Amino acid sequence: MNHSNRSEEPLSILQYRPQAQARVPVTEVFQAKYPAIDAHNHFVSGLDVERVVEHMDACNIRTFVDLSGGNGDQLKRRLDMLKGRHPARFAVFFVPDFKRIGERCFSESVVCELEQAAGLGVQGVKVYKELGLSVRDKDGTLVHVNDPRLWPIWQTAGELGLPVLMHIADPWAYFAPLDERNERYIQLYRDPARHFYGADYPSLQQLLEERDEVIERHPATQFIGAHIGSQAEDLAAAAAVLNRYPNYTVDFSARVAELGRKPRQAREFCIKYQDRILFGTDGLDDPVMYRSYFRFLETADECMEYYMYPNHGFFTISGIDLPDEVLRKVYAANACRIIPHLR
Ligand SMILES: [Zn+2]
Repeated sequence: MNHSNRSEEPLSILQYRPQAQARVPVTEVFQAKYPAIDAHNHFVSGLDVERVVEHMDACNIRTFVDLSGGNGDQLKRRLDMLKGRHPARFAVFFVPDFKRIGERCFSESVVCELEQAAGLGVQGVKVYKELGLSVRDKDGTLVHVNDPRLWPIWQTAGELGLPVLMHIADPWAYFAPLDERNERYIQLYRDPARHFYGADYPSLQQLLEERDEVIERHPATQFIGAHIGSQAEDLAAAAAVLNRYPNYTVDFSARVAELGRKPRQAREFCIKYQDRILFGTDGLDDPVMYRSYFRFLETADECMEYYMYPNHGFFTISGIDLPDEVLRKVYAANACRIIPHLR
């Protein structure tokens, strides 16, 4: 018997999954302290409406914002399925089809679709990260986030009172070389489609600058930066954008790991920008996921494994124990101000 239990070959890093030995108090939070609006989620195929509502009730989620409403007939079916059955429990966002950008009259036709969608009851516009990373023009060149053909869409959303939730860029590690220093090595190794490093892609900086130009040019439109506007790695940078543009708000969906590994700075950020932050999960339909968010927001527990550990890197997180008045705003009041017709 080999007492060191050492095998001939070292473990592959893909197998490595350290479990912290720290023993610390655990606070279970089964429900959000105040009724919450999940301002960033996706009703993907396979989910069952009634089951999702059951989970929402169990977790104290008042409204589920489905960003993947799509367009055309898909959008109509989605609105029927969700708002037709539970008008107050769901909100659905319109998704412009950017792949048609090379077609004649693209802008006019999308604006017309958007106006119709607003008439059908959509409550916002969602922009996927494909814009900037993969949407291409007829000649094959990448379409820029600040492309003027898209301006009428942003303008019209503002006129209709619909916010534009933009997912531009991604975690910074996705734009870095896949080497021993990449903090998301395991995730990117397994899922190379997320890796946007190299000559085929614009830089992270360029994407964010183009995004900022769009916000600046459309002061009458409310923009929501998904995932802390892809700046959770640098909250000072996220704060600078919030300071510059009053028509900009962020959601922190899928960034709890990022925030919770620097809990003091994250707490300060959430308190300072308490009117500009939306609760969102991007987490589909999983009570365990919801409870990890609540525990992060409402407790000062330490050394927790974030939801999805260790995909986002080998670190644990701490809760940020937000004050009640901040929780109320982040859970629901801010979303109610920015997204129309939420109850
Ligand atoms: Zn999402």
